[in-house]
Amino acid sequence: RPAAAADYLSGLNPEQREAVETLDGPLLVLAGAGTGKTRVLTTRIAHILALGLARPYEILAVTFTNKAAREMRERVGKLLGQAAEGMQWLGTFHSIGTRILRRHAELAGLASSFTILDTDDQIRLLKQVLAAENIDDKRWPARQLAFAIDGWKNRALAPKDVPAGEAQGFANGRGAELYALYQARLKQLNAVDFGDLLLEPIKLFRDHPDVLEQYHRRFRYMLVDEYQDTNVAQYLWLRLLARGSTNLACVGDDDQSIYGWRGAEVENILRFDRDFPGAKVVRLERNYRSTGHILNAASHLIAHNQGRLGKTLKPQTELGDKVTVAGAWDSGEEARQIGDEIEALQSKGHKLDEIAILVRASFQMREFEERFITLGLPYRVIGGPRFYERAEIRDAMAYLRVVASPADGLAFERIVNTPKRGLGDAALKQITERSRADEVPMLEAARRLVAGPDLKPKPKAALKELVQAFDRWAALVDNVPQSELAERVLEESGYTDMWTKDRSAEAQGRLENLKELVRSMEPFENLRGFLEHVSLVMDADAGRGEDAVTIMTLHAAKGLEYDTVFLPGWEEGLFPHQRALDESGRAGLEEERRLAYVGLTRARRRAKVWFASNRRIHGLWQSSIPSRFLDELPEADVDVIEAPAAYGGAYGGMGGAYGASRFDKAEPFASTYDTPGWRRAQESRGAASPGPGARRSGPMTIEGELVASSSAPRSAFKEGARVFHQKFGNGTVVEVDGNKLTVAFDKAGHKRVVDSFVKAA
Ligand code: ATP
Ligand code: MG
Repeated sequence: RPAAAADYLSGLNPEQREAVETLDGPLLVLAGAGTGKTRVLTTRIAHILALGLARPYEILAVTFTNKAAREMRERVGKLLGQAAEGMQWLGTFHSIGTRILRRHAELAGLASSFTILDTDDQIRLLKQVLAAENIDDKRWPARQLAFAIDGWKNRALAPKDVPAGEAQGFANGRGAELYALYQARLKQLNAVDFGDLLLEPIKLFRDHPDVLEQYHRRFRYMLVDEYQDTNVAQYLWLRLLARGSTNLACVGDDDQSIYGWRGAEVENILRFDRDFPGAKVVRLERNYRSTGHILNAASHLIAHNQGRLGKTLKPQTELGDKVTVAGAWDSGEEARQIGDEIEALQSKGHKLDEIAILVRASFQMREFEERFITLGLPYRVIGGPRFYERAEIRDAMAYLRVVASPADGLAFERIVNTPKRGLGDAALKQITERSRADEVPMLEAARRLVAGPDLKPKPKAALKELVQAFDRWAALVDNVPQSELAERVLEESGYTDMWTKDRSAEAQGRLENLKELVRSMEPFENLRGFLEHVSLVMDADAGRGEDAVTIMTLHAAKGLEYDTVFLPGWEEGLFPHQRALDESGRAGLEEERRLAYVGLTRARRRAKVWFASNRRIHGLWQSSIPSRFLDELPEADVDVIEAPAAYGGAYGGMGGAYGASRFDKAEPFASTYDTPGWRRAQESRGAASPGPGARRSGPMTIEGELVASSSAPRSAFKEGARVFHQKFGNGTVVEVDGNKLTVAFDKAGHKRVVDSFVKAA
């Protein structure tokens, strides 16, 4: 054994070490959060390399996110004391699938320059398919079909394999047929969707045993992280590859299975030893990540699930801080309070990199983003509505996609008349028809139209200019740096100009985003590499490299860890999410609870749970009740902290109000169902002050706008009034919104407070 080996192995506990050193035959590590599963995988790779059992490119390692892949690469490098270069096959199912498909594209009927469609493109293409079949998109929405197709692909079902019963659901039994048409269109466009990145290689392996054989020879060791979340397609893909080598090591945790809604099958982990006979199963129980209270809270919560194997988790450090639970008046206040807490942590020397905000739904992110921008607090967003999904970025990307792959008709369609150049629907229709008739890509069809007599002079001139521009740009691809190319494309196409001339409020931001896009291309060697990166890497975003707070969804947070984790929005309907409850009942609830477990177990030292009493969902104010998950946290491990002074002061703080009734659940909501709490209070106590009852809101939905114009509690204070607040001191009212005031405090600055907590100064 090489000298270095002793170092990396000595840091492991005996079970972990056993898992690392069991190199022959199938291995399953089944263990709870933070027990070192990923560490085992990483060390195992280092071990294999150190012993010289395989070369870096002979190891297949599958992680759940690109971020996880990057981290694994770095960690292996650190363990070996040298860069783990040449680990070409370390990545997500999708990135590895892409790599395989590019190498054998022609066998799959594609050119190796194929484009990867995102959801948006997918929908657009399905709309075309539906239109061509004269199917009413209103009655049978493309989105619904997209959902069905994704589902089939997750289960590795080609159109011909779709069970008859399931295809019934769409357009009078035409689901499978439309799926087939969609696949045909994809091929014509030289494009694939995400599902194809797995499905096509599976088909390839099945149809071309020689190709599969090649990979069997190559992959001496296979490792899979987060095995509990593999779907059927991923499972089949693995099975096919694993036939070559039985050295397959999978690690996972049934309690962290959170992708059931996307077709993940936790059964894969449960039947591992049947699928891979002779498999060794190792269990790990020591949790090295979280302090005691956090771990207890998480274990206690997940124990409410019935469908689980059940595992013991033992903390390895002190009890540490209790999990805190705090409430806010509304989501804006929640974001402000969390922002303040983060600033406080920062001023005490905590690194922002070690702080994460994990949301249940991506719409929750915006409020944090806005707050952090106001505070000047650096942050990065991972997942959710991303930089690359903004309209101007999509437009710019569409130009680049056509430059890189002239067959990309969807991209061409997106920008043919953006900016407006007189190529309206009529011209577009001509191009599309020509493309269909001649079976050539849109750009080529455009070229033919320009050469022919069918176009009117004006669109003809415009189209000619566009086609020539694309020819010019295509010639630059390998000759100028990518960012320079992008800059020229955006300039010469008139796209930048379009936003420069735009008078709307967001135009400036869009121009900045475009600049950011050009900047983001700099590190890439070539255009295709960049485009691929964008379609695959969902977590590349601003803030990388800088010390910054991370904002992401709970789903994206799997496998990661932070010193401090904020968990906002623990409210019924949001978390557990209503849709999960409606669609999947008890199973849905259990998956939500696993998500809560994942959230809590991301924290090393501080887990801070929040809920808001009012939240704006899809533009409507809803009053909400605290999540049932809060009640499932053990009291001994939780601190219910004081309400923000702005709202709590007047009636003794939420600690009192909530402490007494365990998050307000003691109140019989049924009886208050029709009357939101604050309105009840207002009725009983007079209009001027909503009083303490204001904090107690029932599960009633209130449309904020309606409330504001009709029966909203009106504040007795007027703009310009001088007021005094216990915490913030004296100030002047600058805005009145129902019973909420925006006050410019002399010392504390602008704050929004409820009027009952200030008095006339
Ligand atoms: P998850 O289920 O959340 O993915 P995991 O089981 O993969 O968790 P790791 O991320 O590998 O757990 O490890 C959690 C933390 O514990 C990491 O910071 C890791 O470095 C640390 N750790 C793991 N094993 C040990 C050990 N034997 N000694 C000290 N620290 C350890
Ligand atoms: Mg892990």
